[in-house]
Amino acid sequence: MRTECLINGEWVGADSGKTFEVTNPATGRVLTSVPRMGGAEARRAVDAAFAAWPAWRSRTAADRGKLVGELGRAMMRDQDRLAGLMTAEQGKPLGESKGEIAYAASFLEWASEEGKRLYGEIIPASAAGKRILVLRQSVGVAAIITPWNFPAAMITRKLGPALACGCPVVIKPAEDTPLSALAIAELAEEVGIPAGVVNVITGEAKAIGGAWLDDDRVRKLSFTGSTEVGRVLMKGASEHLLRLSLELGGHAPFLVFDDADLDKAVAAATACKFRNAGQTCICANRFIVQEGIHDAFVERFAEAINDLKVGEGTGDGVSIGPLINDAAVEKVESHVRDAIGKGGTVRAGGERVRIDGLADRFYAPTLITGMTPEMKIFREETFGPVAAVTRFKDEDEGVRLANDSEYGLAAYFFTRDASRLMRVAEALEYGIVGANDGGPSTAQAPFGGVKHSGFGREGGRYVMDEYTEIKYVSWGL
Ligand code: NAP
Repeated sequence: MRTECLINGEWVGADSGKTFEVTNPATGRVLTSVPRMGGAEARRAVDAAFAAWPAWRSRTAADRGKLVGELGRAMMRDQDRLAGLMTAEQGKPLGESKGEIAYAASFLEWASEEGKRLYGEIIPASAAGKRILVLRQSVGVAAIITPWNFPAAMITRKLGPALACGCPVVIKPAEDTPLSALAIAELAEEVGIPAGVVNVITGEAKAIGGAWLDDDRVRKLSFTGSTEVGRVLMKGASEHLLRLSLELGGHAPFLVFDDADLDKAVAAATACKFRNAGQTCICANRFIVQEGIHDAFVERFAEAINDLKVGEGTGDGVSIGPLINDAAVEKVESHVRDAIGKGGTVRAGGERVRIDGLADRFYAPTLITGMTPEMKIFREETFGPVAAVTRFKDEDEGVRLANDSEYGLAAYFFTRDASRLMRVAEALEYGIVGANDGGPSTAQAPFGGVKHSGFGREGGRYVMDEYTEIKYVSWGL
């Protein structure tokens, strides 16, 4: 595959000739090297995108949609290859990687259709000789910065709608997982997306981000990543009043009420907590379980956790791969140590898993009971395979504990009481609520957070607002 970057339809290295290594987190072995680009290349990518904008926005929505749809189909055609690449650079089990490629392609398919429905409006005017027309137009060059945990889907969730709305893009993937991004760029070129419309560069995050924040021709920044970096970008964006979408960290509560369907709750908890070894922004992290069902839930959850197999993502039956790097394992260890030190009890896992011939980055799926709000695990994203449980007495207390977080991305709850279902869904201060559902993500729904989880929505018709400006024409007859 290509290991240079794509700028203006050309595959190029860094001006300095420098590269950085991409490693397989499971084995620690180097896969390849990619360019270490900086501000100069970032500006050239904007030159290309800005120059490509007039022609791209002038195409019909159907024409743009056709190419966006073809990109999605090319990804599905190459699903196995792209999944193998993702598992190699990110570590997640192969089945999950295949699932992510399908999920990533679904955003392109959705956007390819939705671009045709960017309707304007005619508003009744206040004077007989006037008409008011509302137009929706592409915002212009969109910069896209993405994290390592979903190397393909976090790109297409932005790329599809941006392209469909007529915006050319400049993309910087995470340093840990640049290969999936470059593979998507290669397919974009193959399906005939014109030179300059999709540009992908790898390298120095600060220099690249800084160049884009400083460039007036960049009209939109869509960022998915940590709240910490989101804050930095928001400060930088103030100079040019750059439009932002910030998809930031999460710390999802998972409430189980006494009247919940226990089988469904345990199955959802297991899938939702341990997908991608717990390294997802909408992972359930804080399990808040009502007194009457607490012990049964913990017992069943521990059994399910003990059935999960840890290993290299390519291994048969593996459901927990490595963590992305050494710092990630150390963070998990520090959260578990802190929880034990503050009175928590380990009911499953609780330590690294060492596997012959592989890197020391595997952590056993872990269950801790007796979580309290004083523990780090209650306050910070653990971003690892650790579930912590606490108990609550009544609905008010459960909702209060669930909302006791600076984050507001996803929340889950299980109940069979229809009145409670609506009450609790309304009371949870989160952008996404899984009510008897542990897997809410889908291309047609508006994904996004509140509070320190950011703002802006990706998915569904709402995402199109992120890449379009509204203009009105007051038309004197
Ligand atoms: P991160 O450290 O914030 O990095 C995200 C991206 O920002 C990477 O491409 C990174 O580049 C880049 N970056 C870092 N510093 C930058 C700067 N000063 N200027 C411009 N770009 C900069 O996050 P991560 O560790 O990759 O991802 C995990 C985080 O993402 C978690 O907090 C998770 O909850 C969040 N997340 C949120 C969502 C959502 O939809 N809300 C989805 C997935 C993940 P380098 O890799 O080169 O440093």
